[in-house]
Amino acid sequence: MKKYTEAKMESGHYQADATIVRCIDERTKSALEIFTEKEGLVRYDDISIPGSIKGLASPTSEEERRIVLGYVTSSVQLHHSKRVILVAHNECGGYGSVLGKDYYLTELEKAAAVVATALPDVLIGKLLIDFDGTIMLP
Ligand SMILES: [Zn+2]
Repeated sequence: MKKYTEAKMESGHYQADATIVRCIDERTKSALEIFTEKEGLVRYDDISIPGSIKGLASPTSEEERRIVLGYVTSSVQLHHSKRVILVAHNECGGYGSVLGKDYYLTELEKAAAVVATALPDVLIGKLLIDFDGTIMLP
């Protein structure tokens, strides 16, 4: 077997600083990296889904919500994350149409309520990333 890299991965259990639910959209990465650095989030579980919070806030089916919530719950339980950060971004293609900031802010509130019901002991953060990299904390 050919060794591709010398990078090492630690063995054993770790505690995640946070669980982050975000969209696959590459445009949001730099703003999110700045946020995690400023917040001191070194080890976080990164749940990257097309549409990010849509599966929690406005899923196409209850099965979709159950699956996405299962990802979040698994992260919290496996890595003892005490913080779940929900990230939305302007013009998210996962929603299928152009929507305004107010729409995403409402979606963040809906997603946060779903997570809070399932995981009442975690802190929930909500971020909305705009085109200029601005992160709003509703
Ligand atoms: Zn998106």
